[in-house]
Amino acid sequence: MPMNRVQFQKGLSMPEFLDRYGTEEQCEQALVAARWPSGFVCPACGVTESRTTFRRQGRLYYQCAGCQHQCSVTSGTVFGSTKLPLTRWFLAMQFLTQSKNNVAALELKRQIGVCYRTAWLVKHKLLEAMRLVEADRQLTGRVEVDDAYLGGQRSGGKTGRGSENKVPFVAAVQTTEDGRPHLACLSPRPFTKQSLEDFFASSTVLPLTVVSDGLGCFEVAASLGACHDRTVTGGGKASVELEQFRCVNTLISNIKTALSGTYHSVKFAKYAHRYLAEVQFRFNRRYDLRAILGSLVRAMVAAPPLPGRGIRVAEHRR
Ligand SMILES: [Zn+2]
Repeated sequence: MPMNRVQFQKGLSMPEFLDRYGTEEQCEQALVAARWPSGFVCPACGVTESRTTFRRQGRLYYQCAGCQHQCSVTSGTVFGSTKLPLTRWFLAMQFLTQSKNNVAALELKRQIGVCYRTAWLVKHKLLEAMRLVEADRQLTGRVEVDDAYLGGQRSGGKTGRGSENKVPFVAAVQTTEDGRPHLACLSPRPFTKQSLEDFFASSTVLPLTVVSDGLGCFEVAASLGACHDRTVTGGGKASVELEQFRCVNTLISNIKTALSGTYHSVKFAKYAHRYLAEVQFRFNRRYDLRAILGSLVRAMVAAPPLPGRGIRVAEHRR
């Protein structure tokens, strides 16, 4: 799809959103459909269909006829035993998926009408679900790869490599045959040989042509069987303007806009993996803005519970 059609496509408008997900029951049914698309499956014993339902404190519960296990539609998922109305969760998902830029917890607090701490937890649970579902993303074919930093200045060129208070990350963009951006992988990691070997091993599949600016460590791609189109640029602004890197440089530039317009004093180092996953999740679903909320709902019910303690710990699992 040409970029202008991506940018001007019809999203899920707020009136449509409220028609579909305006009540607790509608949100509940959306979760049931996402979690058990072929009918109830007991999370404890695996028995299907045979169950009774009841309500406790307003929330829908299932009781398995096989083992008597009881579960709500949210238990065992990243929603956990949330007390927050599902309508607020869905509103948060609507904002995060329809926004062009990342959404700050402070903004979410105002939009969904909860305290800051709740907004922060809701946001990070949504981001963690995005990260988990995108962790399996693999690129193939022609892939532009570059290194970049969060918390630094692009205009400083590559001189900032290795400087402190910046989070290095790898940006990779799979392009279409006519050179348009298709899918992306963003991974916070140092630019060491081992780290890049891990990146290519987990995030790409052959056949692969890696287009990079010649930084030596990208040559590891070649050792893994990829073709390597190396262009030495000398860094700085010249490399940004090179046609070979147009897709990845546009994405990096957009990431900086999305994050700098959202977070002012953010702890990039601690949560970079989630902020980048948020960008990646939206980027890889930008062709169909109307379907992206449903995609996030499925990611949420597929992700395991994440207690508050776990969500605050800096983790780099990728
Ligand atoms: Zn059971």
